[in-house]
Amino acid sequence: MAPRFVSARREVSLGDLRTLGDVSNSLGDALADAMRPAPEPQPLADRLRQGERRALSQAITLVESRRADDRVAAERLLEILRDDVGGARRIGLTGAPGVGKSSFIERFGGLLTGAGEKVAVLAVDPSSARTGGSILGDKTRMERLTRDPNAYIRPSPAGAALGGVARRTREAILLCEAAGYGVILVETVGVGQSETMVADMTDLFVLLIAPAGGDELQGVKRGVMELADLILVNKADGDLAGPARATVSDYAGALRLIRSRPGDPEGCPSAMPVSAHTGEGLEEAWRRLGEIDAWRAAEGWRAGKRREQAARWLRYAIERGLVEAFDQDAAARAAYQRLSKEVDAGEVTPEVAASRALRAFLGKS
Ligand code: GDP
Repeated sequence: MAPRFVSARREVSLGDLRTLGDVSNSLGDALADAMRPAPEPQPLADRLRQGERRALSQAITLVESRRADDRVAAERLLEILRDDVGGARRIGLTGAPGVGKSSFIERFGGLLTGAGEKVAVLAVDPSSARTGGSILGDKTRMERLTRDPNAYIRPSPAGAALGGVARRTREAILLCEAAGYGVILVETVGVGQSETMVADMTDLFVLLIAPAGGDELQGVKRGVMELADLILVNKADGDLAGPARATVSDYAGALRLIRSRPGDPEGCPSAMPVSAHTGEGLEEAWRRLGEIDAWRAAEGWRAGKRREQAARWLRYAIERGLVEAFDQDAAARAAYQRLSKEVDAGEVTPEVAASRALRAFLGKS
């Protein structure tokens, strides 16, 4: 822990900070967070392994923290838990706002906990940083699941760029696995690269869509269809049951065109109707996901995919680390500011400026 926290803690108690928080809640919380000592990794790991819910929340808060001492503790924690992770079925879920993701998770999650599974729900929502809102933030559609002792729901970490959110969610997956959750649902929305990132941290990827006419097919980006292992046409109930079936056939046709992915069992990806309201099709969806996962596990594709994902995250983490180090380096920052102005004035090309900034960073100027 940084010495300044130690000396500061002697003067200000957490109680004082709470009083301060009455004046300004968010300031108080931020200060309280800055003042708390980083948790001890070993006892936290022990409690987490026992499946203690509060320990899981604390551990996720730890991996989400940007404090340097927390980062050290988080890395130690993940190291201690290394043999306890990897056991869950990791499922990504995407879909436009309003297609019924929350309703689906509520019902699907309930189905799974009813069948004896422990289910964790995480989210990757890069827009929450800008809007202040977040998917899963409004849990009113997940009332039952929120109270279910075998379900754990964690909204997207706020206030970070997608890369940061994704890294923390990836680590949160590992923590949920160590805490004994056998199914991990990672929800996202189609913003920028978020779907690719979620597909890159899960074993199975589900695209949820709403029933519509043929033109809607064009609205789903081809790239997202290619990520999907299963397309669920939600709201297949009441008046929408017919349109949902028609949408399923539209997609079935389109999916035949991308059926040459290695690592796919026969007939994957496929489309099917479901209803988060009536529950229809949900057991079938779970069965299909299980079949794909079991086939891939048996054929070695699942382990291969996870190894590839790990390789990409390694590379990605190094790139992010370098950028962060650059941003924190005084000489690099000064060069960057100066060179930005020169680029802006058209005095130097961005490429030449980048080389100079990098030389300043690496101390070769
Ligand atoms: P999200 O924005 O994707 O999380 O969507 P929500 O779960 O909040 O649902 C958006 C709207 O669609 C709500 O009014 C839901 O009641 C409705 N909805 C969700 N699932 C179904 C379904 O299976 N059938 C019908 N008819 N409506 C649904």
